[in-house]
Amino acid sequence: MTSDCVDKIITIQGLSKIYDGQSSRSIEALHDINLTVFDSEIVCILGPSGCGKTTLLNIVAGLLSATSGSVRICEEEAFQGNLLVSYIQQSPQLLPYRTVLANAALSLELRNELGSGGLSKIHSLLKFLGLEEFSSYYPSELSGGMRQRVALARTLSVKSPLILCDEPFSSLDFDNRLEIEEFFWKANKDERRASIFVTHHIDSAISLADRIILMTPRPGRILEVVEIDESLRQQPPLKRREFPSFSRYFSETWQSLHNASGVKV
Ligand code: ADP
Ligand code: MG
Repeated sequence: MTSDCVDKIITIQGLSKIYDGQSSRSIEALHDINLTVFDSEIVCILGPSGCGKTTLLNIVAGLLSATSGSVRICEEEAFQGNLLVSYIQQSPQLLPYRTVLANAALSLELRNELGSGGLSKIHSLLKFLGLEEFSSYYPSELSGGMRQRVALARTLSVKSPLILCDEPFSSLDFDNRLEIEEFFWKANKDERRASIFVTHHIDSAISLADRIILMTPRPGRILEVVEIDESLRQQPPLKRREFPSFSRYFSETWQSLHNASGVKV
C-alpha cells in the first residue's frame, strides 16, 4: 500500500448516477455524494429501499460507472477487479458448480494465496460460521443465510484493506446476526480494514459503525452523518447494546430517517 492509502482508503467526490431507463425514462439514483472513508473505519449506510445504496457500492467496486464525480480507492480511480477491494453483494455470488469449501476458497485462489495456511484459514472461518459439516455441499443445497455465510468466509479470508458489504446478514436470524456482527467487527479491527456496510437494521449500524451515513429517498443524497462517540466506538457490538447512549442513537436515527422519508427503512 502507498503512504496515502494508510490514511484515506476511499475518497468520493461529487458522485451522481443517472440510469438511462427504458422508453427514454432516466432515473437519478444518486446525487452529489461526498464521502471519505479512513483506514480501519467502519462506515454504515442506512437509507430507504431504492435510495441508491447498492448503486453506490457497485460504483466503488468498479462494476458501474458514475455519471459524474469521482471515486478513488487509495490513489487510484475505482476499477473492476481491484484487489484492494472485497465485495459481498446483496445476493451472494456463489458459483453453483463449486462446493462450499471451493466457493469460500475462491478469493484466495484468484490471488494465488491458497497454500496450506490459506486452506486452514478457510476451514476455521467455515467452522466459526457453522458451515464446517456443509463444506462439500453445493449452493443449491443451502439456505439463504448459509449462502451469505459462505460469501462472508470468502471475503474475510483475504487481507484486502477495504470491504464493501451490501446487507450481508439480512437472511440471518437475530441470534446468528449478533454473533456474526461481533466476529465481523473484531476481524476488521484486528486487520485494520476499512469497510462500507449497508444495512437496513438501525441496531446493526449502531453496533458496528464508527460513523453512520443516513441517506434520503431517491435520488440518494447524504441526509446526515451520525458520528458514534469515542466511548461507544471502542466497544465491540454486543457490549455497545448495554450502553444507555445506544438507545438514544437508535431513536435519533430512526426519527431522522422517518422525517426524511416517512417510510420504513
Ligand atoms: P437500494 O440498494 O438503496 O435499494 P439501488 O441502488 O438498488 O437502491 O437502486 C436505486 C434506484 O436506481 C432505484 O430506483 C432503482 O430502481 C434504480 N436502478 C437500479 N439499478 C438500475 C438499472 N440497472 N437500471 C435502471 N434503474 C436502476
Ligand atoms: Mg440494495
